[in-house]
Amino acid sequence: MSELRITGVAVYVVRWPLKMKRRHGVGDIEDSMPGAIVKITTNAGVVGWGEVAPWSVFTGTAEANAAGIHHYLRPLLVGADPLKISSLMRRIDKTLVGHTEGKAAVEMALFDITGKHLGVPVAQLLGGYFRSHVPLSVSIANPDFDEDLAFAKQLVAEGVNIFKVKTGFSSHKEDLERLERLRTDLPSTVDLRVDYNQGLDPWDAIRQIRDVEAFRPTFIEQPVKRDQRAAMAAITHAIDTPIMADESVFSPAEAIEMVRGEIADLVSIKIMKSGGIVRAREIASIAEAAGITAYGGTMFEGGLAIAAGLHMVAATPNIALGAEFYTSTWVMGVDILKSPIVIDNGMTRVPTGPGLGVDVDEDIVKRSSTTHFE
Ligand code: MG
Repeated sequence: MSELRITGVAVYVVRWPLKMKRRHGVGDIEDSMPGAIVKITTNAGVVGWGEVAPWSVFTGTAEANAAGIHHYLRPLLVGADPLKISSLMRRIDKTLVGHTEGKAAVEMALFDITGKHLGVPVAQLLGGYFRSHVPLSVSIANPDFDEDLAFAKQLVAEGVNIFKVKTGFSSHKEDLERLERLRTDLPSTVDLRVDYNQGLDPWDAIRQIRDVEAFRPTFIEQPVKRDQRAAMAAITHAIDTPIMADESVFSPAEAIEMVRGEIADLVSIKIMKSGGIVRAREIASIAEAAGITAYGGTMFEGGLAIAAGLHMVAATPNIALGAEFYTSTWVMGVDILKSPIVIDNGMTRVPTGPGLGVDVDEDIVKRSSTTHFE
């Protein structure tokens, strides 16, 4: 029995400024994005940090998650042993349904505390570093396409080789024009991927995707709505290019549905969808057993959530298609980390220090906060 006890849970609802606008099939992002930061304190002085990175059209809201953590999870966390992560997460699931981003933030903070207490990085707690660097995929999602193209060219010069083009938010003709420009203007060795973010209607999806296949995308992600699983299966069977499920798979149970229904060839795994690292790895295991390779997705995440994602991908061999761990570097207008996440020659470096291996700048969290609970 450890003597370690949780003494406090503080939640800061924040509003992050953004450096670029983003347009996805599921919705648009203008100049700022809500989020929340969780700080868990202990009687030994060890502090754990977690991040809620929601999107109201995709997972949930910062406000609901912050209130859920404060009113429902804080009472069961204070006084508990933070090293008992599995027991605490089981109690959390029995106390609060949904709120996957809030659960991910709390679990991340518990892993941070455990790693710091034991003096090991979170990736080591998960089985060790299968990879120390993760190939970076950058999304082409700026409504100003010329700005994005110039950005992509600059990134290619810096070693980035994977780009994910967001499609399905305007017209099919425009999607094809953007893909054509990318294939013409970027080196032929660039690994292009396509993400519809649920943007197609099932009746016309197969014809449109066949046109897009001419640009040799490595995969095509979530063409239709999350619940349109029969259409996902029909597309997966009709199209040669691998189809990836993102919005259709939040949980291990939905991963089993994906396998049974043959609705995808690949899956995007995000801790904000699954409700934390452990559930994300359960999805990776189900996928691996079914021969489905995984990709490391993100929401609009700051450095803390990115760090947690990096440890998860580092220790999970089946997440082999790279990951989009760049938002804290190029999209967010502030960095809550004292030392930023390192991107080097097209690869994101997995932190190596104890816990999440990152230092949070508490002043920036407080300055960005619109409301807080403790
Ligand atoms: Mg996606």
